[in-house]
Amino acid sequence: MNQNTIKVDVCVIGAGASGLAVAEMAVQIGMDVALIEKERLGGAFLNSVCLPKTGLFEAAKVANTSRHADRFGFEYNEHAVDIRAVKKGIEESIRRIEPHYSAGRFEALGVRIYEGEARFIDDHHIQLKEDVINAKYIVIATGAVPDIPDIDGIKSDKVLTPYNIHKLHETPRHLIVLGGQGVALELAQSYRRLGSRVTLITENTIMPDTDFEIAGMINEALSGEGIKINENSRVSSVKHKLDRLVDDGVQYNDDNVTVVFETQNREVREVGGSHLLVCADESPEITCLDLMNAGVDVEGKSIKTSQDLRTSQKHIFVVGNAGLGPGYMHVSAYEAHIVLKNMLLRKRLEVDYSQMPRVVFTDPEFAAVGMTDEQARTKYGRKINVSVSKLRDNDRAVVMKQEAGMIKVITHKNGQILGCSILAAQAGELISIWVLALSQNLKIRDMPSVLAAYPTLSDVSQRAGGMSLKSSLSGFWTRLLIRLLQKFPG
Ligand SMILES: Cc1cc2nc3c(=O)[nH]c(=O)nc-3n(C[C@H](O)[C@H](O)[C@H](O)COP(=O)(O)OP(=O)(O)OC[C@H]3O[C@@H](n4cnc5c(N)ncnc54)[C@H](O)[C@@H]3O)c2cc1C
Repeated sequence: MNQNTIKVDVCVIGAGASGLAVAEMAVQIGMDVALIEKERLGGAFLNSVCLPKTGLFEAAKVANTSRHADRFGFEYNEHAVDIRAVKKGIEESIRRIEPHYSAGRFEALGVRIYEGEARFIDDHHIQLKEDVINAKYIVIATGAVPDIPDIDGIKSDKVLTPYNIHKLHETPRHLIVLGGQGVALELAQSYRRLGSRVTLITENTIMPDTDFEIAGMINEALSGEGIKINENSRVSSVKHKLDRLVDDGVQYNDDNVTVVFETQNREVREVGGSHLLVCADESPEITCLDLMNAGVDVEGKSIKTSQDLRTSQKHIFVVGNAGLGPGYMHVSAYEAHIVLKNMLLRKRLEVDYSQMPRVVFTDPEFAAVGMTDEQARTKYGRKINVSVSKLRDNDRAVVMKQEAGMIKVITHKNGQILGCSILAAQAGELISIWVLALSQNLKIRDMPSVLAAYPTLSDVSQRAGGMSLKSSLSGFWTRLLIRLLQKFPG
């Protein structure tokens, strides 16, 4: 076989959000870049997870809003949900977004795109179908695959995961969800609103790393919509009835899958459903890469990676879900910056994810940046202030009839902003000002100068900022100083 060797500066393996970000930045600074993708450009966020899930969420929100239209004086008539039409609408949105991540656009930028599954021949050579790519630097951006927990009777080809649920073209009669993190809650709520019965079973409390009070409010909101949430419950076995699963056009009955679990009171329960969705951990997609040929060290299921995103081979980097980051789309551009600076400069730049915003697209939405109340207390003890402002005190939220939620701002007694958690409609938008505050190291006294228009939800941030400032000024010495200044004016 005639093999073509192509020499480039950088070879990026995987064209999801992370690989595309590295390829775009590298080519823009004049590097010769090869980008290899075995399936579709755009990867998981475009084709299977983020956008399909967000589209589903928006459709489900409309269903919910119309169900509660009477709050605004409209008579509500039950509408049947046409899930195929919902899916078509989502597909149309994705097709509108897709050109930005297309081969055409990247080729026009100067990136050389290759189709196929890449594997290492050695630490500078990558084997493709007929071609060999010889690269000075290599970036592994191959994403992740969902883990299926080791539960008695569970069959991985008969369960839904966050990666394949977009293929489902029916509304499950009864969806059983295993898991209690953000994605599990988002999908549970969307399907509930589209008409499914939903039972959620999680080993821990829901969103265990989140502010405790806010996680409780999310639990309340979801339970209030009819989702049966079983926290601190352990699944002991799963029984599948049929051989098929994802989208074969069959309306499954409630006995298609049976889950046996032990509740927090040690009661053994059995629940039957039409579909089982498993939202567990993920592992990097590295099995086909032949990493040992390149001398890249692996630890368990992951690539050994240092904080500067280098593997054990200094010229081979790893980014995105294949690496050590928190697995968000918005991490891609940040990591691409770090990788390129580490390739080109003599400095050793390390990643710091502590100021990355985190959003969970439930309704109400959850967003946070920096430390939670509990984390700050563990680190600084009593030297912190926590200010809470409730959505019910925000005029816009009242008019929108979306009063559930709160904002919590955590500051050090010296005025340093340590973190913020928000539960509110559009919390993902509201968090931006706090991301800016943390990234610019602003003090709480700087916040009241950022005016929020009236009536907006942003006013909730201003109110919390104001309260936080007030409590930082209410210390004994500050009060004494103010009293002295009043005594001796001018
Ligand atoms: C259900 C779900 C919802 C999410 N929602 C959000 C959200 O709302 N907001 C957010 O910020 N993040 C969200 N995320 C995370 C986000 O999707 C990921 O952070 C992002 O997709 C990671 O991109 P990536 O490039 O690392 O991996 P991927 O997008 O998985 O891309 C990896 C690419 O590499 C290719 N590949 C793999 N092996 C090879 C090989 N050997 N040769 C060639 N190509 C290969 C794959 O085909 C794939 O296209 C969500 C994730 C999930 C699972």
